[in-house]
Amino acid sequence: SVAVEVALKMAIQYWQAKGMPRKHAFATIRSGYHGDTWHAMSVCDPVTGMHGIFAGSLPVQYFIPQPSVKFGEEWDDRAMEPLKDLLEKHSNEIAALILEPVVQGAGGMYFYSPQFLVAARELCDRYQVLLIFDEIATGFGRTGRLFAWEWAAVEPDIMCIGKALTGGYMTLSATATSTPVANTICGGEAGCFMHGPTFMGNPLACAVASASVTLLLESGWQEKVKGIEAQLREELSVAASFPGVQEVRVLGAIGVVEMKKPVDMAVLQKRFVEAGIWVRPFGRLIYLMPPFVISKEELSKLTKGLLAILKE
Ligand SMILES: *Cc1c(COP(=O)(O)O)cnc(C)c1O
Repeated sequence: SVAVEVALKMAIQYWQAKGMPRKHAFATIRSGYHGDTWHAMSVCDPVTGMHGIFAGSLPVQYFIPQPSVKFGEEWDDRAMEPLKDLLEKHSNEIAALILEPVVQGAGGMYFYSPQFLVAARELCDRYQVLLIFDEIATGFGRTGRLFAWEWAAVEPDIMCIGKALTGGYMTLSATATSTPVANTICGGEAGCFMHGPTFMGNPLACAVASASVTLLLESGWQEKVKGIEAQLREELSVAASFPGVQEVRVLGAIGVVEMKKPVDMAVLQKRFVEAGIWVRPFGRLIYLMPPFVISKEELSKLTKGLLAILKE
């Protein structure tokens, strides 16, 4: 959440330093999720973003539909029309486009074509809009690449990381940017980036992150994620034939069963716990994002339990 606030502040300060202070709104795609703090809430999907209570007090941002071409489908340039139209009309007010690259997490568990990122990068450059990738859920190998933007070989101007950054042992997130963006901000009136909470860059949390990332990189994570992906595909695919199921999709260490109708969360969650598995469904989505250290047997317990309860 804070990494997202910082990314948005960076974008605003960048355009201030460029002498374009009118550029202070944000664009994003539907079904996104970027966290629970103030401006982060404003770029979450207004319906699935879990922040409806606060809607009246949040700044209003520009939303376009989620990318229409799914991951693995043939690309169609028409998928860029909503973004192109928006930037054509409003780029003089828009500081940045913020996206979860390739995989939308808590707002929809949706996988879209990496080509969207290639085309979005081009449009952002053409219309002078910064591109922010929120890799908080997708980073550190989750989609099968170290960062999801590697699927498209497209680099953002600003990137948020968190979650697996510390392996979950401590709370830490980070925001990275390019040298040109950093130098522009520091060359502006303020002389530095205006964000500095007391415990920022906490040494203990950073040491944990450093140790965790080293462990991950030395763990042979590519093979582990490939193994989890293959097992999820094999074991979850039968659910596609269940009457209530719309679609089963798997990418990297993420398995999603999308139902035709919203699930009864209270009932379903209780049944999962009774079966000894901890699964948190939301809306029409039941998903697994297991840790990479999970064993084959443990993952089978999850998928079997999930399928058995869905059959009920
Ligand atoms: C979880 C998440 C966040 C928020 O991070 P917190 O550490 O929960 O505040 C932001 N963006 C994405 C994509 C996330 O998945």
